[in-house]
Amino acid sequence: MSGLVLKGISKSFGGTRAVEQVNLTFAEGQLTALLGPSGCGKTTLLRMIAGLEAPSSGALLLGARNITDLPAHRRKFGMVFQNFALFPHLSVRENVAYSLSISGVGRSEAAERANRLLDLVQLSAFGDRRIGALSGGQRQRVAIARALAQEPEVFLLDEPMSALDAKLREEMQVELRLLQQRLGITTVVVTHDQREAMTMADSIVVMSNGRVEQVGSPQDIYHRPENAFVADFIGKANFFDGVTEAGGIRIGATHLSAKPNFVNGSPVRVAIRPERACLDDDPGENRMPAKVTFVRDLGPVREYHLETAFGPMVVEYALGEGGKTLVIGDRTEVRLPPEALHVFPDPQAAVAAE
Ligand code: ATP
Repeated sequence: MSGLVLKGISKSFGGTRAVEQVNLTFAEGQLTALLGPSGCGKTTLLRMIAGLEAPSSGALLLGARNITDLPAHRRKFGMVFQNFALFPHLSVRENVAYSLSISGVGRSEAAERANRLLDLVQLSAFGDRRIGALSGGQRQRVAIARALAQEPEVFLLDEPMSALDAKLREEMQVELRLLQQRLGITTVVVTHDQREAMTMADSIVVMSNGRVEQVGSPQDIYHRPENAFVADFIGKANFFDGVTEAGGIRIGATHLSAKPNFVNGSPVRVAIRPERACLDDDPGENRMPAKVTFVRDLGPVREYHLETAFGPMVVEYALGEGGKTLVIGDRTEVRLPPEALHVFPDPQAAVAAE
């Protein structure tokens, strides 16, 4: 195979358009995360890739092969669901060997392959245990080993960490990523957790309302968001609405120096990440008065909440990075470096114009 390609895939359930005109390429051997808020169509898209749901229109290709109408059991895809769905009455080893036995692999070979997989997910000592006697993280590893038993061409995971507590979730994200890299298996993970996507993925597909908003590496998505939705959904951002004018943007009565790529008079939404705004004495452009309304120390970062002519703003300093020490009520100046500003067409104005 050489990657999985979705061409104009759509899916409607009655009047609900769950997925709309999705074109994507999942590169061979890479891990792609489908990321987006609840109800944006991630699971529906994954189920169509798995063959568990038929697209209303569009085509799926695996390498040169059109697999749109190929039933799920003939796709040779491994799948791990949110709740793992393990067989509670079978042992760990039997769970992993089960699919091999029903596909005709002899008993001893199935057990041997199951042992190798348990080794891979670091559960060799647990082969004889019942599923009920395992922790959440161990169950998740059994589910992964079971899905890998068939040596799938594509590995699909739907919110695989959602049943785990926060610490274990982080550990398993790293473990799963290392395993995926070692096996070099093309993998698609559905998640609504941006940290999870950024930890594991080569490529992130950000979705909303059934559509793809942006595809890119974790760095692209964070540092070069293509629209206001992505800037808002990934990480934190301060937003201001304004209008482009010569040399920048007018926000209320204030002119901001910036290089927007729009004709003068265009309504725009400006975003700046909290760590890119500055509370310093640098005499650079875009300084404006601010009043500190709240301060909190979050361990590695200190967050200042400000009141400005643009409305509320949050500025963040990493520990040891310097910045002024201010307290609630202090009057200061905040600086918004032009190169740190993201300027997007105003989505509200676009809706109003339609
Ligand atoms: P979540 O993160 O909450 O699981 P999601 O991004 O995976 O959400 P989907 O489960 O794909 O979203 O759902 C997308 C849309 O399609 C939602 O509006 C949902 O209500 C609808 N939908 C999904 N499955 C069905 C179905 N079988 N019948 C009718 N509507 C459905």
